[in-house]
Amino acid sequence: MASLKLQNLNKIYDNNVQAVFDFNMDIEDGEFIVLVGPSGCGKSTTLRMIAGLEDITSGSLIIDGEDVTQKPPKDRDIAMVFQNYALYAHMTIYENMAFSLTLRHEDPNVIHEKVLAAAEILGLTDQLNKKPKQLSGGQRQRVAMGRAIVRTPKVFLFDEPLSNLDAKLRGATRREILLLHKRLGATMLYVTHDQTEALTLADRIVCMSMGYVQQIGTPLELYDTPANLFVASFIGLPPMNFFDCKVEEGKLIGDGFAINLNENDKATLKDYVGKTITLGVRPENIVHGNDVTLSVNSNENLGQTTLVHGKIGGHRATAKFREWSTYKLGDEVGVSFNRMHFFDKETTNAIR
Ligand code: ADP
Repeated sequence: MASLKLQNLNKIYDNNVQAVFDFNMDIEDGEFIVLVGPSGCGKSTTLRMIAGLEDITSGSLIIDGEDVTQKPPKDRDIAMVFQNYALYAHMTIYENMAFSLTLRHEDPNVIHEKVLAAAEILGLTDQLNKKPKQLSGGQRQRVAMGRAIVRTPKVFLFDEPLSNLDAKLRGATRREILLLHKRLGATMLYVTHDQTEALTLADRIVCMSMGYVQQIGTPLELYDTPANLFVASFIGLPPMNFFDCKVEEGKLIGDGFAINLNENDKATLKDYVGKTITLGVRPENIVHGNDVTLSVNSNENLGQTTLVHGKIGGHRATAKFREWSTYKLGDEVGVSFNRMHFFDKETTNAIR
């Protein structure tokens, strides 16, 4: 188990692409950290620098107080689980799981114990004599995790480990990874482009865009107090609605609608009177009321909730109602915003 210190990490590839800019973070022993962001934002590069699979262009990586920036992967005591599992087809599951220990000439009795223990944790005990192709995708994913577990590494790294699984299996495997984390108490870093995985797995999320860390915080912090427009639009599904609005004394004026501000919001926006800001409202924060009108385009029932897509004034908007509703094109629904987020249009930062 281990704490990590990532200090001013930068990565510039040989083709001069800078993939990561000045990444700073302290990770506590036993934390589950999820790096999330769209494809190409630098998540895998960051993970690979931690694993030692990519050189760190500048900055330093400290594991348990020791500077490992220049150390090769094998001396970092880190295990990585990849999305393609990278299992050896000609070996049994047992051999696959034992492989890294065999390479290191560990005592066969110790190897046997470790493989059986990992198989037990992962529910693979009955599969040990099979070959990878005889296993389902989910089981293969567990074998890949088993290979990491037997090494009892200080840190586990996961690079999009669920992306090859179908939706149902992804949910189940996600829960298994959470249990595994509880059981092992290990420090884990997990890369995904899926905000649902980030929200459900992480102790803390690192949200990245274009090589920069946008925000680090608990899932609730990123959901409830996003630092900027990028985080606000990336975290949450369906995404937050955005409306450009002019701030007037006690009011927000959008395209075809106006909203009265309460005392708190007035105080927050006091320096923006006369300026245009971006108002953000999550679909679940558009509720039945009589402040503005939602002109319905379509109605999507999801079981316990309904997504109602349409327009508020000249702006597209989606509301998520906690009921089975049956609106149709042309219906006009009175709504209110029960929580609003404000963003500076120039900096895109949240206005607090
Ligand atoms: P993510 O994991 O968030 O999808 P990556 O870390 O893989 O993003 O990539 C970040 C950026 O670095 C992208 O612009 C990508 O094209 C670039 N990149 C990744 N690997 C290499 C490489 N080996 N050589 C050059 N550029 C790379």
